[in-house]
Amino acid sequence: MAERVLIAAAHADDEALGCGGTIARHVARGDEVYAVFLADGVSSRPQALADDRRKRQLAAGKAQEILGIRQSWSLGFPDNRLDSLPLLEVVQPLENILGEVAPQRVYTHHHGDLNIDHQVTHRAVLTACRPLPSSPIRAIYGFEVLSATEWNTPDVAPFLPTVFVDVSDFVETKLQALAAYGDEMRESPHSRSMANVRHQLAYRGHSVGLAFAEAFSLIRWIEK
Ligand SMILES: [Zn+2]
Repeated sequence: MAERVLIAAAHADDEALGCGGTIARHVARGDEVYAVFLADGVSSRPQALADDRRKRQLAAGKAQEILGIRQSWSLGFPDNRLDSLPLLEVVQPLENILGEVAPQRVYTHHHGDLNIDHQVTHRAVLTACRPLPSSPIRAIYGFEVLSATEWNTPDVAPFLPTVFVDVSDFVETKLQALAAYGDEMRESPHSRSMANVRHQLAYRGHSVGLAFAEAFSLIRWIEK
């Protein structure tokens, strides 16, 4: 049965890095995938200009088309400063979108990322996705984002993958979506390089006997 899936990410590009292959796989199976981005992704930079913001939005639109995301929302909170806002301010618009999408599955950030926006997004999503009797959500997964998940102090909150999704048929789709975000990608051997995205997919896949996989930590699973 087709599912409704929501990706809740801090920045446009986290969806492609964290679960681009899984999104494309959901879409190929007939599921409806939606995305919400909390921060605008550019405003903390010294040369932050309207131009940069427009460029990022264009890139996000292109990636959305490549991955097959049906609709997305940008909440426009300030980049790298989500922790300066009262949590409630971040949670409320998320609750509205959750009400609109009514997803069965939610993918969001791992709570132990170095990036502060990723941490706050995780907290806000878990708050907005409280398991109330009326909630349609059956599963919440945490994804890993290169240059954020593995860059935090190793023993603070390590990412422990428990779910592996076979994305062998969707590697090129993920790479194409990331190519749309060209400005956010770096040259190898930077962690956030195309070469390392491919390595990570192969490593996660080979760890469980698959060619390519995306790994997730299972945050909540409700069996009904
Ligand atoms: Zn991010």
